[in-house]
Amino acid sequence: RAAEPKGPQKIPGIDRILAVASGKGGVGKSTVSANLACALAQQGRRVGLLDADVYGPSQPRMLGVSGRPASPDGKTILPMRNHGVTMMSIGLMTNEDQAVVWRGPMLMGALQQMMTQVQWGALDVLIVDLPPGTGDVQMTLAQKAQVDGAIIVSTPQDVALLDARKGIDMFNQLKVPIIGMIENMSTHICTNCGHEEHVFGHGGVAAEAAKMGVPLLAEVPLDLQIRLASDGGAPITVSQPDSAQAASFQAIARQL
Ligand code: ADP
Repeated sequence: RAAEPKGPQKIPGIDRILAVASGKGGVGKSTVSANLACALAQQGRRVGLLDADVYGPSQPRMLGVSGRPASPDGKTILPMRNHGVTMMSIGLMTNEDQAVVWRGPMLMGALQQMMTQVQWGALDVLIVDLPPGTGDVQMTLAQKAQVDGAIIVSTPQDVALLDARKGIDMFNQLKVPIIGMIENMSTHICTNCGHEEHVFGHGGVAAEAAKMGVPLLAEVPLDLQIRLASDGGAPITVSQPDSAQAASFQAIARQL
């Protein structure tokens, strides 16, 4: 009997795994994950999106995917596909309005199942939308799979930044390289009068990134179109690919 593999492993067929993380919930981590995945697909990359946000899986809605994934052989699971992105979400295995009250070992089992039993096929990049914070799922992912980089999403608010810093510290400990930080909800431009307002402050993430010695990848505005697009199941990079809002995601995708 073969010995259990030790340490982080490559998932067969998957070239690179990139994690999108945040210290706090609601800062736009899933929005960033969905838009980066769609932008990568548009740039001709074979891309997968694993929605590991066990407490609030939002990728089925954001990518416009529903229904239960099929398992023709009863062992492996066929992923879903939309907008050129191959995807799997914990949300497709539970009812949408059902609270996930799993304990650590169950979470880890579900994550491992999504990594190893889903027929991802050949992928250039697998984006993993992590739950917020520094918990079991993050640890399990980094210990079981070879994660090539992490992107940290934060709003400019002090409370969000404080938690983002903990996230960076965790990835440093797990020896996962930080690709950079994204300031989301950076500024708001009034659709009526064009007045620019910094609802959550501005520049906090740039300052934090400089302090931590990691790149600032983008400052994404708080924008109604971004929210409407995600809620409608076609992220802004898909529904309005030529917009200024889509451009910042496309620019990050080109660097990945
Ligand atoms: P998280 O994954 O960090 O919990 P989400 O990506 O689910 O955050 O975003 C929370 C809510 O904020 C969603 O309704 C989303 O559409 C909205 N949102 C995220 N980023 C933006 C943005 N830049 N502009 C407008 N709405 C946004």
